[in-house]
Formats: sequence, C-alpha cells, structure tokens
Amino acid sequence: MVFRARRGTLTALSAALALAAAVFLFGGCSGSGKAVVGGGAVEKPQSPEGAAAEEGDPPAPAPVGVPAFDPGCETVIKTGNTGRREVALTIDDGWNRDDRILDLLQSYGIRCTVFVVGGRGVAEANPGWVARMDRMGFEVCTHTYDHYKLTDHPYDYVVEDIRKGQEVIAAVTGKTYPYMRPSGGSYNDTVIRACRDCSCYLVLWSNSLGDTDAGTTAERGASAVLSNLKNGDIILCHFGGHHTYETLKRVIPEALARGFRFVTLTELLAP
Ligand SMILES: [Zn+2]
Repeated sequence: MVFRARRGTLTALSAALALAAAVFLFGGCSGSGKAVVGGGAVEKPQSPEGAAAEEGDPPAPAPVGVPAFDPGCETVIKTGNTGRREVALTIDDGWNRDDRILDLLQSYGIRCTVFVVGGRGVAEANPGWVARMDRMGFEVCTHTYDHYKLTDHPYDYVVEDIRKGQEVIAAVTGKTYPYMRPSGGSYNDTVIRACRDCSCYLVLWSNSLGDTDAGTTAERGASAVLSNLKNGDIILCHFGGHHTYETLKRVIPEALARGFRFVTLTELLAP
C-alpha cells in the first residue's frame, strides 16, 4: 500500500515536471524553442545563508535544455521576461579567472550564463574550467574566438569567429547554446546577419557591475546594479573584472533579500 501510494505520487510529480518542461520548451518567441537536451530543472534554494561552498562540484543541477534559435524572433536581446522577479547574471571573457566567483555562485546554487572567449588562451586552453561551469549547470556560450571588435570585420570573418568559438565550447560540453555576445557589445547589420546565419541570438545586457572601470569599487559597483535592479535584467560582469567577486558578494544577498531569483538566460527568456 505504502509503495503504491509513493509510486502514485512520483508518477504525478513526473507528469507535472513533463508538463512544465513542455510548456517551457515550446512557448512563445523568447529564445526558448525546441530542446535538444532536456529535463526538468532541479533547483537548489538560493538563500542568503547560502552555506559555505561545498567541496568539489555540486550534484549537477539538471539543465532545462539547450533551446533552438528561432529566426522568427528578435535577434538582438537586451532584457528577459519582466513578468517574473528574475534576473540573469552573465559573465564574460576569461583571461583572468577569479575562481572565487564560481565558488560564490556554487555556494548559493546559482546557475548563470557565461560568454567565454574561445581562443587567446581562454576556453581552448582551459577545458577543465569550461567543464566545471558546464557541470555547475551554467550555459557556456561564445564570446567569439578572437574577441575582436566585430564591426571592424567583414561578414565571412564574423561567421567564422562565432562558429570557431562555438566549436571550442562544444568540444568540451557537447552543447551549443544559441547565444553570442560580441566583444564590447559592438554590432551592426552585418553582425546581426552573421549571428542569424550561425543560429544565434545577439545578447547584450540591461544592467552592469561596471567592472571594466579600473576606478570602480565594490561599493560603487553594487550600488550601480542594485539601484537599477528590475525584473528581467541581464546583468553584465567579467571573470577578470575590477572587484567583481567583492561586488557580487554584496549584490547577490541583497537581490535575494528583495525577492529576486538568479536564473540562466534561457530561463529568463522563457514566456
Ligand atoms: Zn569581452
């Protein structure tokens, strides 16, 4: 009897998860199209207490799936769904890698979307770093291979730069997310066309730590983000930014205290 009752509960739970996944994966023009990798998201609570970083990697949170690019949707993305109290933390580059940032996010169970440079001593040279973020449930996306200003280059170069960056990541993670962030956020019609032809959305941001400014401080960065923090924000910061770790240490507990959840870009874009 007990066994039967438990089975019934599990079956109902599975059905609910499957329904939730179906609604999420096939709804609307938001960058969350058909999944090629799927599963229901298993959330670890994001609490300010957070607990100290666990030894090693956490049990891998189930990914919500790699969405497909939908050419019918807007290619340039600056913000997510504003109907939920959610924000997405996005981290760029990777020349300098402050591992305290990953440890901090891990301690809160926060998954985010990262845009890593493929070449120039970054992703290609550090597959273990890419693999760790993938195991943490992060969406590891391309920030191009060379990290040059794309508006200075012709179409063919831009396509090659995006594809090569995607290939470096996929060689480690087996995943190609339909998201690309251009160096410096620079883009024009050629870059948009190249993105579309690479089945990528061009992802910008709506909020920033300002951690590329050598004159910033953790207090100033946190205040800049928190004073503007709103539903659907895509927050920009950098692995090797100025005071990025210290700034995030201030931003995360305060944002959680205000009721925000940190989610991946795919989750943020879901209808
Ligand atoms: Zn960059």
